[in-house]
Amino acid sequence: MTSNKKIIYVAHCVLNQNSVLNGWERAKGGFNKILKQILAEDIAIIQLPCPEFTYLGEDRQPMTKEEYDTTQYRQLCLELSRPIVTQMKIYQENGYELKGLVGIGDSPTCDTLGKKGIFMEELYALMSENSISLSWVDIPPDYVENETDFIISIL
Ligand code: SF4
Repeated sequence: MTSNKKIIYVAHCVLNQNSVLNGWERAKGGFNKILKQILAEDIAIIQLPCPEFTYLGEDRQPMTKEEYDTTQYRQLCLELSRPIVTQMKIYQENGYELKGLVGIGDSPTCDTLGKKGIFMEELYALMSENSISLSWVDIPPDYVENETDFIISIL
């Protein structure tokens, strides 16, 4: 069997809701319905790291983008972005199709479309430096597993 050579990147908590703020979980484990849409198209999934968990741990308080926007946090987000972009380049150079990136709407770290999160800003800047462009989509802030529907538009 040969692979489809198609890849999508997803924010860490799409697969692991244990990484979100305590009490803010929107699925028991991961966003199964969204992941099934991706896997049904035979697209491989790469899980991005969770910068907030790495920075402040499991029991952190809600913070705004402005509160997260420090040199130290941006540096962390940049460092987390480096190996991802290195691998993106390798995949692209070897004929893989990078289908896009699924972020988290309204997140101070992982929003890709609205008020862009800090991790996504740093990742995007590094991707631009390396001439990598992707489609972006965000899980809406009101999405709750088994209560709301959301179709991933970039598959
Ligand atoms: S939105 Fe980003 S920072 Fe927030 S829990 Fe999900 S992966 Fe972590």
